[in-house]
Amino acid sequence: MKMLINGEWIDKNEKIEVIDPYNGEVIDTVPRGTVEDVNRAISAAVEGFEISKKLPVHKRVAILRKTAQIVEEKMEEFAQIIAREGSKTIREARKEAYRCTVTLNVAADEASRILGETIAFDQAVGSENRRGYYYRMPIGVIAAITPFNDPLNLVAHKLGPAIAGGNSVVLKPATVTPLSALKLGEAFLEAGLPPKILNIVTGYGSEIGDALVSDPRIRMVSFTGGVEAGKHITKLAGLKKIGMELGSNSPVIVLADADLDKAVESSVSGAFWAAGQNCLGVQRIYVEKPIYEDFVKKFVERTKQYKVGPKLDEDCDMGPMITEKEAIRIEQWVEEAIKAGAKVECGHKREGAIYWPTVLTNVPEGVKVDCQEVFAPVVSIYPIEDLDEGIRKSNAVDYGLHAAIFTNDINKAFKAIEELEVGGVMVNDSTDYRVDAMPFGGVKNSGLGREGIKFALLEMTEPKVVMFNLDI
Ligand code: NAP
Repeated sequence: MKMLINGEWIDKNEKIEVIDPYNGEVIDTVPRGTVEDVNRAISAAVEGFEISKKLPVHKRVAILRKTAQIVEEKMEEFAQIIAREGSKTIREARKEAYRCTVTLNVAADEASRILGETIAFDQAVGSENRRGYYYRMPIGVIAAITPFNDPLNLVAHKLGPAIAGGNSVVLKPATVTPLSALKLGEAFLEAGLPPKILNIVTGYGSEIGDALVSDPRIRMVSFTGGVEAGKHITKLAGLKKIGMELGSNSPVIVLADADLDKAVESSVSGAFWAAGQNCLGVQRIYVEKPIYEDFVKKFVERTKQYKVGPKLDEDCDMGPMITEKEAIRIEQWVEEAIKAGAKVECGHKREGAIYWPTVLTNVPEGVKVDCQEVFAPVVSIYPIEDLDEGIRKSNAVDYGLHAAIFTNDINKAFKAIEELEVGGVMVNDSTDYRVDAMPFGGVKNSGLGREGIKFALLEMTEPKVVMFNLDI
C-alpha cells in the first residue's frame, strides 16, 4: 500500500515489508517514509487545518458516519487485514473491526455535542454588565502515533475525535501493522473527507518520530504505545499538548466470596486476548488463600484448553506474538522468574513467534514478570491473606491503567474502588473490559490524559472565551 500525503497516495523506492508473524509471509509493503515526507505531511496538514476548522459540524458528522458505514460494509476485509498483519485471531480481529465502527459513530455523535457554558462575569466587583460564554475550538494539527496491538480501532480513537473536533492530522501507524490504518485512510477519503486533513506517513518511529513530535506546527501529540517511547516523546515535544496512553501490568483481586468460575473465565480471556499483547491485559492475579488452590487448578485447566495456532482458523483461540524477537524476550523473562523460584503451571513453550499461554505461581517479588509490563501471554497467580494485601500489592508498581476485583461484598468492592491507584476499576469483570465511549487512560507510568471519544475531544479542542461589555 502507499502512504497518504497532501491528498495523494505516495510510493517510495525504499519499502518496508509487512510480515504475517504466524508464517513469515510478506503480505504487502509500505513506503519507508523519511523526515522530508514528515515535513511535507505537516505542511499539508497545516493547509488541511484551514479547511477542517471551517467544516460545519453536520459535514464532520456525515463524514464520520459514512466512514463507519464503509468499515461496516467491508468488515470482513478489515478483519482479514488485522488478523494477517498482527497477532490477532480472526475472531478477535472481527471484534476490533466492529468496535472501529462504534468508535467512529460515537465520534459522529460527540461532534454535535462540543459544548461551552455561559460565564457569570458579574461575580467580580467592577465586572458588572459583562455577559459572555466560552465555546470550544479545534487546536490545529495533531500528530497521532499508534501501536501494533489494535491497529485499526486505536487509530479510529485518534482520527475520530480529531476530525469531530475540526482538527487536521498526521498519523504514523506502527511499522509492523500499517495496513489497517492505511485502509481506514482510504475509507475516510471515500467518505468525503477533504484531502490534506488526514495525512498518513509510514516509516520507522526511530527515523521519523523526532521530526514529527518536535515540529512546532504540531499542536498536540496523541501517542499510544510503550512507556519508553512515551517518555522520549514527552521530552522532545516542547510546548504543545500531549496525550499519552501507555502500558500497564494490570492486577486482578479475587476474594473468597467471589463467583469462582466467572473470575476464572474472565481472567483467562483477559490474560490471553491478542496473545497477551493488550495494554489492559490481566497480568497479576491476587487470590484469597481459602480459594487459591481451587482457582489455580481451574485457571490452568481452562488455559490448557486454549487452541493456539493459525490465526485465520475459526476455532483458533490465540495466535503468535507480533515477532519472534518478542516471543524470545518473554521466554527469557520467564526463565529469569523460574531461576528465582517461580513454578510453571502450564505453557512456557515457544515455536518461532508463538509462545504458549503460560501460568506461573510462586513468582518472587521484583522479577520482570512481577513488576514490569509482560505484554505477552503470561500471567502470575499469587495467594493473599486479605483485601488489604491485594490492594497493597496491586498498587506496588509504576503503572496504573485498569484493575479488577471479583467479590460479592459491596463494601469490599467500594474499598477497592477507592484505594486502587488506577484509571479504571472493573468489578466482577476482567481488567480488559472496555467500551469505546468510556473515559480511558491511566495514572503513574500508564499515561497522561484520557481517550474515549468524548474525553479525547476535550483534549483535542480548547476553550475560547467571549465577553461583551454592555451598556444596559
Ligand atoms: P511502541 O514500540 O512504543 O510503538 C508505538 C508507536 O510509537 C509505533 O508507531 C512506533 O513506531 C512509535 N515510536 C516508537 N519510537 C518512537 C519515537 N522515538 N518517536 C515517535 N514514535 C515512536 O509500542 P508497541 O510495541 O507498538 O505497542 C505496545 C505498547 O503500547 C505497550 O506498552 C502497550 O501497553 C501500549 N499500549 C497502550 C494502550 C493504551 O491505550 N494505554 C493501548 C495499546 C497499547 P514503530 O512501529 O516504527 O517503532
